[in-house]
Parts: sequence; C-alpha cells; structure tokens
Amino acid sequence: MAKLKIVKVGDDILRKRCRPVEEITPKTLRLLDDMAETMRAAQGVGLAAPQVGILRRIVVIEVEEGNLIELINPKIIAYAGEQEGTEGCLSVPNKWGTVKRPMHVTVRALNRHGEEFEITGSEFLARAFCHELDHLDGKLYIDIASAIETVPADEQK
Ligand code: ZN
Repeated sequence: MAKLKIVKVGDDILRKRCRPVEEITPKTLRLLDDMAETMRAAQGVGLAAPQVGILRRIVVIEVEEGNLIELINPKIIAYAGEQEGTEGCLSVPNKWGTVKRPMHVTVRALNRHGEEFEITGSEFLARAFCHELDHLDGKLYIDIASAIETVPADEQK
C-alpha cells in the first residue's frame, strides 16, 4: 500500500465529474487500498478518488474505526429526513462548515468483487455518504455550507 497525495481546493481536478469504473482490475483494488491508507494517515473519515487525482467513481469511508466501506460507482437511491451538522474535508484544510444533509441515506454500489450491494447510513454516516458522493460530481461542501470557520492556527495539526 502507498500513501497518496491529497489534492487541495483550488485544483481543477476537484471540480470535475468522475467517470464510472467499467472494469474492476488489480489497479482498482490497489487504488482502494491506497485510498484507505491515505485516509487513515490523514485522520479522515472519508476520501473520494478525485481527492487523490483520479477521476473515477470510487469512495472509501470509515466513520467507525475498523469498519471500512468501499464504494465503486455509488448512487444515492433513497434518502429521508434532515440534519444540520459540521463537516470538514481533507481537501479543504483547517476549515469546518455547517451543512444541511438528509438524516438517512441509502447507497447502491459495487464492492471490490464487482457485486452490487446496498447500504443505509444515518446521522454521521449519512452525512459522509453525501459529502463523498458529491466529490464524484465535482462538488465540495464549502459550496453549500451555511457557515464556514477557520480553525485557529494554534489548534492546527
Ligand atoms: Zn471532502
């Protein structure tokens, strides 16, 4: 596994629409592994392929430690309710924003074996699904946040 470089806001690649994965190859699997390692090293809870410079519809999420969710070609197929909460992004360092998201979100995707599955998340996981899937369409939470705060310099890692 290798740690990848995280693309930061201002780079055009974050604003592009990603193409679907047409075939899951060893390269796809390596990318999934590298994305998980990169996310964990950066202490993030989610990472989308464009954040490491790859314009493919691939996302990893780990809201709960040890419970890695890998999503290939994910689509939101149902959502319900509403929540407002704080979000950050590994591509937007040292900032937090308040964003409205659905409370419950169901995603349909392929796993690393090419099998279709559905997963429903609530609260923070629902938020992570929305945030990461937005990346695949070139959208960032700062586009829709109602308030954005900068972390003071002495609290920055
Ligand atoms: Zn993000």
